[in-house]
Amino acid sequence: MIKKKWLISAVESLEGFNNSKIKIKLEQYTTDAISTVDFIYFIGVDNQDIIGNIIIDIGAGTGRLGLTALLFGALSLVAIEKDKDAIEILKTNAKQFDLLEKILIIEGDVEEISKNETKIKEISEKITDFHKDFISNNANPSKIVIMNPPFGIHKKGADRSFLQLSTFLSEKIYSIHFSNEKNRIFIKKFMKERGFLIDSIHSQKLFIKGTYNFHKKNQKQIISNIYKFSKNSNE
Ligand code: SAH
Repeated sequence: MIKKKWLISAVESLEGFNNSKIKIKLEQYTTDAISTVDFIYFIGVDNQDIIGNIIIDIGAGTGRLGLTALLFGALSLVAIEKDKDAIEILKTNAKQFDLLEKILIIEGDVEEISKNETKIKEISEKITDFHKDFISNNANPSKIVIMNPPFGIHKKGADRSFLQLSTFLSEKIYSIHFSNEKNRIFIKKFMKERGFLIDSIHSQKLFIKGTYNFHKKNQKQIISNIYKFSKNSNE
């Protein structure tokens, strides 16, 4: 298996958001290298859900989570993101590790897509088409969503459309959310209504660098929760 130390330094070498172009409304934070690798290990080692699978990163940003999943052994990456500047950085990062061919980039607004059945169908078809040529006949990769969506701090409910879209694209979802009781109750109900149950909730520290002017300290630590959701097979 890939060494954790190597993976952390690989993630550190990836470019993050360009501070001068950062969009506060989109809650653009670069997930720090250690949290990124912890997240990927949780999915890939503890849950065995990365190697050989199609990883869908919603709000892929500069590609930290998705590219790390590819380095870990994912079959491919579907990166959904609305910010063109971030997509350019993602591409540069992918080239650095020769991963561009394994990536399908979907530029779009998650809030809009999540409400539009036709768009969702189009994306699902794009994903199928993209994989036609490189899935061997007997392989049966799963589609796994991994995401660090906006927490809804700057735009209330911003994380909901991400959750909503994830339920249409996969049967297993790993998602990072702000840790708080009220949020947990809401998320549980929201996903249950869409046929998904919480398999586990795992605490994860996130280190947020002082990217924005309103961050007084240079680095802030917050506790987040990694949720694992699976489709409720009884429904
Ligand atoms: N996954 C990256 C970025 C997380 S920050 C990482 O872990 O480093 C959240 C990302 O969601 C940003 O890239 C932001 O541009 C994107 N985003 C926010 N709102 C969005 C929307 N409505 N549609 C698409 N992407 C959005």
